[in-house]
Amino acid sequence: FNEDPSFWKDHNVQVIIRIRPLSSSEISLQGHGKCVRQESSQTITWTGHPESRFTFDMVADENVTQEMLFKAAGVPMVENCMGGYNSCVFAYGQTGSGKTHTMLGDIEGGTRRHSVNCGMTPRVFEYLFSRIQKEREARREENIKFTCRCSFLEIYNEQILDLLNPSSVNLQIREDIKKGIHVEDLTEIEVTSARDVMQQLLQGAANRKVAATNMNRASSRSHSVFTCVIESKWESQGVTHHRFARFNLVDLAGSERQKSSGAEGERLKEATNINKSLSTLGLVIMNLVSISNGKSHHVPYRDSKLTFLLQDSLGGNAKTCIIANISPSSCCSLETLSTLKFAQRAK
Ligand code: ADP
Ligand code: MG
Repeated sequence: FNEDPSFWKDHNVQVIIRIRPLSSSEISLQGHGKCVRQESSQTITWTGHPESRFTFDMVADENVTQEMLFKAAGVPMVENCMGGYNSCVFAYGQTGSGKTHTMLGDIEGGTRRHSVNCGMTPRVFEYLFSRIQKEREARREENIKFTCRCSFLEIYNEQILDLLNPSSVNLQIREDIKKGIHVEDLTEIEVTSARDVMQQLLQGAANRKVAATNMNRASSRSHSVFTCVIESKWESQGVTHHRFARFNLVDLAGSERQKSSGAEGERLKEATNINKSLSTLGLVIMNLVSISNGKSHHVPYRDSKLTFLLQDSLGGNAKTCIIANISPSSCCSLETLSTLKFAQRAK
């Protein structure tokens, strides 16, 4: 497993497979039966029929810790934002495959000083604020100033809910010259430390739970998007410079096939919307890869709220990292194959 972030240079889209450990219920149901075999730090074989091999930027098995994954994937994304470019980290996979463990992990204990199991998001902000502090010290003469603002939203059934102000439902995406693509009336809170960020994350997660209970639905059927805008200003040779970058951390809806057969009304609409937004995301990412290979296709960004919202953060100089989470158990064999295929298309 290659932890060296320089490994990421010159690539704007990275795909990592993360295999979680077998759960105790999988062990009791299936013994230790597995549907995948890791071949190397980049190759994995799906052991069903017919056997299929897949190659990715990285394959992280159950021995890859939260810290190792952060060093490999999180650090270069933060550095990219410090350079003034946007970054997006997506967690993809079926419900129960480890998306939330990867993105948030164990956050009850606060930041990583308290827990080895805390995930990508708290680590990213711990690191971001330490980088900002270093930059301030190193560039005191330029009088560099940073402002960070965060927002947290959920997309459920193609409707945007503000997780930092849950009475705000069905927010609209707008586009204008000054602000670019943005969500109208979305709460943005200024943050000056990783602890501030954690507080917003916990608040948003609690609001998300309440919203899901009130509306009688599982949070696995919605996408959550945590965004931090990092603005910097400095002076050199009498000129004021201004930089602006967005860091997006996305915990996607479960990728398991949403059954539309037999479903009616709201359930049918919901299933259709989840399938559509994940497949549009797949198309968008596939196209980013084609662009870097000199080809380009029309991409239907506006076909889903998720891709429309993130349009400015995907492509160009932005960096995108997809962490595709899988269960190794033979009971998840078909869903695991479908995740490997999705991730493969993004390569
Ligand atoms: P998802 O968000 O995709 O539905 P979760 O992140 O909630 O899945 O993970 C399901 C369960 O598996 C949780 O109990 C989680 O703690 C555990 N888990 C997931 N990934 C790992 C991992 N890499 N190491 C240890 N436990 C994990
Ligand atoms: Mg989850």
